[in-house]
Amino acid sequence: MTSKTLNQDTDASRWEYTTYAPKGETCPACMKPIASLERVYRGTLKRQSGSPVVVYRHIGKCP
Ligand SMILES: [Zn+2]
Repeated sequence: MTSKTLNQDTDASRWEYTTYAPKGETCPACMKPIASLERVYRGTLKRQSGSPVVVYRHIGKCP
């Protein structure tokens, strides 16, 4: 009976919280590798296939 969409996610990307990056991650903003245990934003990107992928991005300015 409800017409509400449960999970309306129109953003291509969203940044949820800060955390420590695991090893081997690359910042999608500057395409540079992120140092292990560097403080980063954790977010999810939606691929064109629709499956979300977790990404990590530098906080503030990229180096
Ligand atoms: Zn970066």
